[in-house]
Amino acid sequence: EKNPVTLLGLGAMGTALARTWLAAGHPLTVWNRTPARAEALAAEGAEVADSAAAAVAANPLVVVCLLDDASVEEVLGGTDLAGRDLVNLTTSNPAQARARAEWARERGARYLDAGIMAVPPMIGVPEAGGYAFYSGSRELFEQHQETLAVPMGTTYVGEDAGFAALYDVALLSAMYGMFAGVSHAFALIRKEDIDPTAFAPLLADWVVAMAQPAVHQTADHLRSGDYTTNVVSNLAMQVAGVPTFLGTAEQQGVSPELLAPFFELMRRRLAEGNGEEDLTGVIDLLAR
Ligand code: NDP
Repeated sequence: EKNPVTLLGLGAMGTALARTWLAAGHPLTVWNRTPARAEALAAEGAEVADSAAAAVAANPLVVVCLLDDASVEEVLGGTDLAGRDLVNLTTSNPAQARARAEWARERGARYLDAGIMAVPPMIGVPEAGGYAFYSGSRELFEQHQETLAVPMGTTYVGEDAGFAALYDVALLSAMYGMFAGVSHAFALIRKEDIDPTAFAPLLADWVVAMAQPAVHQTADHLRSGDYTTNVVSNLAMQVAGVPTFLGTAEQQGVSPELLAPFFELMRRRLAEGNGEEDLTGVIDLLAR
């Protein structure tokens, strides 16, 4: 007999999650503000609750996947959470997650927060590598890990309920930095007779090849506090190359606005006398 699950929120993500639990044979009770979105799932075997309160009452394990933290408050506000295991897959920030954990504790529920590192087509497709970060109650996580692992991988990152959101946002922030660089690269070649689809594999392979050593080297530097170990491209050399980047952008009629702030931090770090480092020192300059 598979662990029964209650799921509140049948948007793109909630619906994908629901299908994996049904397919794996978990009894599933669902509720959605707009009832029409539950119809297809009812045909696939889900119980459809009349209200959020009834859905919460149906099973000890209550998973929510709503738009944002405000909608979680709105939906769960009128329900009895005493004795429930609440797993919040709604994206939030660390402070919201910590406040929601306290809010759940006051209502007698165990609480686990999550940050989903996947898009709906990756849900229920293990080869796609999607997973969620979880933080908060370790007991809840350990008790329900098998159920939580049905839609996607599970990575527990600590008792602090804010950590799942923090890891999630940290990874996505790195992704946006990558998108910024990729956007600039395509802008540079755009006015020429260069096929972007021929350029793409060169760019993608380069980004992947650079990411691995850069990320691990940075972590080693932060841990040791010595930013000069095993440096292959020192800051002095890299800053000397900045005019090449800015000159090329100008020649191609491309705004340097995505890259300029990073170059400015590199220059400041060099001006403080750290030419033998790589780029790790930029992180020190970001601390407020
Ligand atoms: P959708 O916009 O598809 O669905 C939003 C859901 O929230 C719907 O079920 C909607 O109900 C419900 N909702 C919104 N406001 C309220 C409210 N005030 N009261 C009750 N219900 C409400 O979003 P997704 O399913 O894509 O995303 C859900 C969560 O998953 C978000 O936090 C998102 O950040 C996260 N996520 C999504 C990813 C994605 O690629 N889609 C990737 C990673 C995380 P109704 O049907 O009635 O409108």
